[in-house]
Amino acid sequence: MASTSGLLGDGKKAKKIHHLIKAPENTPFSVSRRESWDADKPAVVYITPENLPDGTPCTAATVILRTKGCVWWWKSGCTFCGYFNDVRDDVTSANLFAQWEEAKRQTKDFAGCTMIKVYTSGTFFEDREIPVDFQEAILVETHERGMHLVVEAQAQLCYPDKLAWLAEKHPGCTVALGLEAYDDVVLRFHVNKGFSVKQWHKAVDLLRENNLRVKTYLIFKPPFMSEGDALNLTTKWVKQVAPHSDEVSINPMNIQRGTIVDRLFRNREFRPPWLWSLVDMIQNTHEEISKLECRTIVHPTAGGRIRGAHNCGSCDEDIVAAIERYSVSSNLDEFSDIDCECKRVWKSEIENDSMLPTILGSGVERRVSRVDTVRAP
Ligand code: SF4
Ligand SMILES: [Zn+2]
Repeated sequence: MASTSGLLGDGKKAKKIHHLIKAPENTPFSVSRRESWDADKPAVVYITPENLPDGTPCTAATVILRTKGCVWWWKSGCTFCGYFNDVRDDVTSANLFAQWEEAKRQTKDFAGCTMIKVYTSGTFFEDREIPVDFQEAILVETHERGMHLVVEAQAQLCYPDKLAWLAEKHPGCTVALGLEAYDDVVLRFHVNKGFSVKQWHKAVDLLRENNLRVKTYLIFKPPFMSEGDALNLTTKWVKQVAPHSDEVSINPMNIQRGTIVDRLFRNREFRPPWLWSLVDMIQNTHEEISKLECRTIVHPTAGGRIRGAHNCGSCDEDIVAAIERYSVSSNLDEFSDIDCECKRVWKSEIENDSMLPTILGSGVERRVSRVDTVRAP
């Protein structure tokens, strides 16, 4: 039986995915980096052009606060989420108020901004993460100032009482839910999301009952998935979630430090998505989505870089720019002039992924042996 023992395990308890993910959080380097942050300074503050819910162009401030992080991360965590790099365990309400003042100082009191995104690396209205007095102060202040507010949340933390309270303090604000995949198997085994599609639907229904707006994030190409599957599945998911959302934001996988995806990437077992895949997905969802009152945004974070969605290197800049333009214009003509030699390489990868029994993908970037690739399932 010696030959099969390696496959069946050695009798020890099997490792769960979160044992693998949690480890980097606790390395001395990671801990000392976290402790080095100034708890009175927000992680990032920036201004971008945006659209208000009625489509009017506006200026938006994004404030990413330095918080205690996400309760799901404390227990387990999503496979791609590197937010733990930016949090501190000991952030207090006083620190958060100081960060808010600092954000105002950096933006001249949010001059000209009619939209504000307050991101907390977790759920804005989860009391274990964010003190209630701070939640209330932000909701009330942004409402009184007539700014449209966007906050983020996990679906299973959208309790009826809390959402009613949120809607009372800031009526009509947007709650962004990181659904990532409209598929329970993918949520569980690729993303380790901590909630199911059913829980997402329940949260959406509750948000609607409270007249709050729904923004849905999808991830393009979670780990342990081929490029071809990512393309086919995400194209399907966009069409499935758009009718339930006011806005869908598709985030192509980018490699954040210390995550499961980072480990795979450094081992050359994961390539972030091709930009061609994003263009193909946009072209194949455009017609159906444009009939709905749902805005679709694709924002390739680190687009064109090796840790973000990329192509061959020479065409990346033009394609990222076209994708960014499409997110504003919703016009397919943005892609009419783009082409490159590398499109053939991408196309054959997609074709091979659908024909060969290589569940983890056939891309040349993967340096695992071909035999292991075929045996991976
Ligand atoms: S729920 Fe959000 S913040 Fe929490 S681990 Fe997942 S992606 Fe990160
Ligand atoms: Zn190219």
